[in-house]
Amino acid sequence: MRIKLLAIFFSLLLGSCALNKQVFIANNCEFPINSPYPGGVLSTEITNRKFNENEEIVAEGLKSFICKYSFNNYKVFVPIPLDFKKTRIEIKQGNNLLNSIEVLKKNYRESRITISNEEYVSPSKDLLPRIREEYELSQKAKNTVSALKIKNWEMTIPVQGLMSSEFGVRRFINNEPRNRHSGMDIAAPEGTEVITPLSGEVIISSNFFYKGNVIYVNHGAGLVSSYSHLSKLEVKKGDKIKTGDIIGLVGQTGRVTGPHLHWEVYLMGVPINPEVFLVTSNL
Ligand SMILES: [Zn+2]
Repeated sequence: MRIKLLAIFFSLLLGSCALNKQVFIANNCEFPINSPYPGGVLSTEITNRKFNENEEIVAEGLKSFICKYSFNNYKVFVPIPLDFKKTRIEIKQGNNLLNSIEVLKKNYRESRITISNEEYVSPSKDLLPRIREEYELSQKAKNTVSALKIKNWEMTIPVQGLMSSEFGVRRFINNEPRNRHSGMDIAAPEGTEVITPLSGEVIISSNFFYKGNVIYVNHGAGLVSSYSHLSKLEVKKGDKIKTGDIIGLVGQTGRVTGPHLHWEVYLMGVPINPEVFLVTSNL
């Protein structure tokens, strides 16, 4: 009986000490840079405000989390979906309004491409189960949130080349409207090395119908990135990789119009402009 009571006591104690899952500890919280527009990340400092680390933050129903970089110094990050329509985001904790921030407008351009391989425009029925399965696998990968400790989310460019299509572009394939461009395209010759811009763990290394040879990397704390259309995969699922490690080679596998890297970054499952994780771009 006494043991049972002790067990209950300790579980209550542990429960009350458990940190809010939204709080992540880092060396600095400079990245992603404050980019309060659809497809960007709102980043706001919490200073001189009554702030309870254990109480959840609410931001217009959007996912959010807290980056803690030193004692009593925090930033709140709110990844903003591309289709977000409101003009302000109020950040609250309980009844306490922490901040109210204007959402900036961003004009994304249109892009029209022609794909002549009909199989990639309207795939045949027998390909649909494969496409659905790969869609589900990528959805699961994008939404990975592991409690890995993050140090700093500053990224390096994964491949040297020319940015051929930026994030968020409104795309038309053979004049039909398609999903917004959820990544950044960097054109480079086939065989150019692709490195991981940040350390993490490989969660997918496979061949998908649209993405071709593709790698997904979990960087921890809700940050995931992916690399598509590779000619060669140099890592496998479960590999732990460090910033700068070669993960594959540029190619033109899957639905493409030429050799390039399609690079995606997800924060809490929300596609984000990779540029907000870069200090200076060589593109
Ligand atoms: Zn792309």
